[in-house]
Amino acid sequence: MSSMTHITPEIADLVRGAPERPVLIFDAERLARRAARFQEGFPGLVTYAVKANPLPEVLRVLARAGIRTFDVASPAEMQAVRDAVPGAVLHYHNPIRSPAEVAAGKAQGALSWSVDDLPGLDRLMPLKPGTEIAVRLRLPVKGGAYDFGVKFGADPEAAEALLREAAARGLTPSLTFHPGTQCRDPEAWGAYIRAAARIAAAAGVRLHRLNVGGGFPHWGSEDEADLDAIFDRIGSTTRAAFAEAQPALVCEPGRAMVAGAFAVLARVKALRGDGAAVLNDGIYGALAEWRDVPRAADVVVMAPDGTARVGAPVARIVYGPTCDSIDRLPQPLDLPGDMAEGDAVLFPGMGAYSAALATRFNGYGDLSLAEARTRA
Ligand SMILES: *Cc1c(COP(=O)(O)O)cnc(C)c1O
Repeated sequence: MSSMTHITPEIADLVRGAPERPVLIFDAERLARRAARFQEGFPGLVTYAVKANPLPEVLRVLARAGIRTFDVASPAEMQAVRDAVPGAVLHYHNPIRSPAEVAAGKAQGALSWSVDDLPGLDRLMPLKPGTEIAVRLRLPVKGGAYDFGVKFGADPEAAEALLREAAARGLTPSLTFHPGTQCRDPEAWGAYIRAAARIAAAAGVRLHRLNVGGGFPHWGSEDEADLDAIFDRIGSTTRAAFAEAQPALVCEPGRAMVAGAFAVLARVKALRGDGAAVLNDGIYGALAEWRDVPRAADVVVMAPDGTARVGAPVARIVYGPTCDSIDRLPQPLDLPGDMAEGDAVLFPGMGAYSAALATRFNGYGDLSLAEARTRA
């Protein structure tokens, strides 16, 4: 299976080095292959949502793989992209911006701006004629691990009015949406695309581009068929729904681009009397997202010599290193019965929303970075 992460010789070496801090293991080749996979399969422009993992190493590998356009949400993300990728194109797709943030976006030459209400559009003015305004559409669509429509987005009627307004101001009207992260249902995209076509027609506007967001799934589904089904549905629905007025398609994956390219290597600080394991990383560190997004517990445990523990699995509560009692994984994990203190615990598929969310609470959360192959 393509999602498998193996104990490669490099990983065994890292384990034998007994790192005191948790290690983010970066498989650059895996990231480059994933970028190629998106660019070959997606029927349009592939951009990268920087918030999933803004490490300069990631941005540089993506740029080398041909990704030149980045979805950014803040001046700091814009600067991170500018520093790592000269000549990058910026899509500023956080619809709520302070005056200083609007000025920063203009100074950085953002090419596309998302908006979801009229005050948000007003805050951008004046804009150079022809600047792309990507109206962020929101529908009550299910399918993601959690709903992205709670905070941002215009309902269909408001989106229609915004498209008309953008066109009337001499700007270039586009539509964008986000079906929710870790979304496995192609119909979530299908429903949005059909609605986008209806809204554009009602507004009497020809869409320059249709940005179908991120949300592409990773966990439990790095098997490629899942992505193909989504890409196919996006292409076929767009062709059918827009007839003569085909918009160019854009996507902005975060999670599905970068998740598989990293593993987190933690260590067992202690085994408690009840069998619970206390690790040197947890909910306040790189495992932050485990509380909110359900995921496969495909964890590998290794002895300090780098060999796999193969004892019969035991359901263990897993705690992080801080003193807070919420610092535990939501479900017990099935971990080997012969697991011991000092063992290494490898969490694959940890490239997205991991290091980006890690805090320094209680003096932990400082991860080191190592490059290594995670697949034989
Ligand atoms: C977070 C975000 C993304 C990336 O979402 P994933 O679920 O990680 O693919 C893309 N676009 C926008 C506007 C976002 O806010």
